[in-house]
Amino acid sequence: MSAEFDLLIIGGGMVGASLARAVSGQGLRIGIVEAFSLASNVQPSFDDRVIALSWGSRKILQAIGVWGEMAKSAEPICRIHISDRGHFGFTHLDRHEEGVDALGYVATARAMGEVLQKDLADLPDVEFICPAKLRHFTVNGDRVDVSLEVDGDIQEINTKLLVAADGGDSQVRTMLSIPLKEQAYGQTAIIANLTTAKPHEGMAYERFTDSGPLAMLPMTEGRVSMVWTARDDQVDGLMSLSDQAFLNHLQDRFGYRLGRMESIGKRVSYPLRLRQATEQISNRVALVGNAAHTIHPVTGQGFNLGLRDVAVLADLLSDAAVSKQDPGERSLLESYEKWRQRDQQAVALITDSLARLFANPLGPLRMARNIGLLGLDSLPSLKHLVARQFMGVNGRLPRLARGVSLD
Ligand SMILES: Cc1cc2nc3c(=O)[nH]c(=O)nc-3n(C[C@H](O)[C@H](O)[C@H](O)COP(=O)(O)OP(=O)(O)OC[C@H]3O[C@@H](n4cnc5c(N)ncnc54)[C@H](O)[C@@H]3O)c2cc1C
Repeated sequence: MSAEFDLLIIGGGMVGASLARAVSGQGLRIGIVEAFSLASNVQPSFDDRVIALSWGSRKILQAIGVWGEMAKSAEPICRIHISDRGHFGFTHLDRHEEGVDALGYVATARAMGEVLQKDLADLPDVEFICPAKLRHFTVNGDRVDVSLEVDGDIQEINTKLLVAADGGDSQVRTMLSIPLKEQAYGQTAIIANLTTAKPHEGMAYERFTDSGPLAMLPMTEGRVSMVWTARDDQVDGLMSLSDQAFLNHLQDRFGYRLGRMESIGKRVSYPLRLRQATEQISNRVALVGNAAHTIHPVTGQGFNLGLRDVAVLADLLSDAAVSKQDPGERSLLESYEKWRQRDQQAVALITDSLARLFANPLGPLRMARNIGLLGLDSLPSLKHLVARQFMGVNGRLPRLARGVSLD
C-alpha cells in the first residue's frame, strides 16, 4: 500500500466510490478505505435497496464514465403520479413536459455498486484499501496522519485531504465532534420488490397514506419496487405477516392502479431519521453523502444529494490540481461548504416538511395538502420548479452535473 495520498476517502459505498471515480484522472493520488468487500453479504451501502436516480444524477454518472454500464440495469421513470390515499388531491409530473428522456431512473444499489467497484479496480491512480477500517487520524501541518487496520495489521499513511464518506454513523464526523441536528420520525421504511398484474409503463407512484408515504417505483423486467413508510409501532406486525397477508394489506393501501399484486420478494426494514452535520468541513477534512446529511427517503433524494456533493468537490479538486493548489487548503474546503449549503438545506427542508405534512392525519392539514397537490397540477410554472428540484438541475451546477467531463 502507498504511504502518501493527496485524497483519502473513508467509506467506499455509493458516495465514496463515486467520488474516487469522479476525481480519477486529475493527477491526484487517491486512496479509498472500505470496511466491507462487495462480495460480503453484509456490505451496508450496496444492498438490495432500490435507488431512484434523478436526471441530474444520470448526467453526473455519465460524465464520470459509469452510466453506460449502469443503464443496463436501470429502468427509466417516464411519469410520476403523486396522490393522497382516499382524498381528492393528486398531481402528475411528465418527462415530455420537462423536455427530457426520463425524469429519473430506478436501479438497485447492488447493481450500481458492482459497476463502480469494477471500474475503480482498473484505475491506476486509485488504490482501493479493503477490507480496512479507520482507527484514528490527526492533522499535522499540511497533512493528515491516518492509522488504519488492514487485515488485522496497523498501517500508518498520510494524506493532504481526508474525505468522510462513511455514512450516517460517520466515525470521522464523531472523531471531529461535529454536532448533529437530529430528528427521529417514528417511521421505518419497508422495502421489497413485487410483480403486479398490470405493467408499470414507466410510472412511479408516490402515495401519501395515514402512516406515511408509499412509493411504487418501476423496475427492469416488469417488476415494481415498493418503499412503504410505516409507523415504528406497525413495523414488527407488518414484517411478520405472511407474503399473501402483506400483499393484501399493501393492495388495500395502494389500490388497483397496477392491477392485482401477485408476488413479493424479501422484505427489509430501515428506521428513518433526519441527521444534518452542522459543519461540512474541518481542518483538511470534508464530509460528503450521508456522513453530512441523512434524509427521509420520501422523495428519493439521499444519494442524489450525495452525488451532487461529489460533483462539486470533484470540480474544485480538478481546478486545484490544474493550478497545483494544495487539495486540503482551507479556501477550497470553504468554497465546497458554501456551494453545497443551499441545495442541501433546500432538499432537507422539502423532504422533512413532506414527511411531516403527509404523516399528519389532522383534518385542516389534510385539506391543505390536497389543495396543495391540486394547485400544483394547475400551476405549470410551480410544477416545473418542483420537477426541476427533484431532477437535481436547480441552482448553480458544477461541470459534472451539466454532463461535462473534468478531463
Ligand atoms: C429505504 C431507503 C430507500 C432509499 N431510496 C433512495 C432513492 O430512491 N434515491 C436516493 O437518491 N437515495 C435513496 N436512499 C438514500 C441512499 O441510500 C443513501 O443516501 C446513500 O446510500 C448514501 O451513501 P453513502 O455512501 O453516503 O453512505 P453509506 O451507503 O452508508 O456508505 C458508507 C460506506 O462507508 C463504509 N464505512 C463506514 N464506516 C467506515 C470506517 N470507519 N472505515 C471504512 N469504511 C467505513 C461502509 O461500509 C459503507 O460502505 C434511500 C435510503 C433508504 C434507507
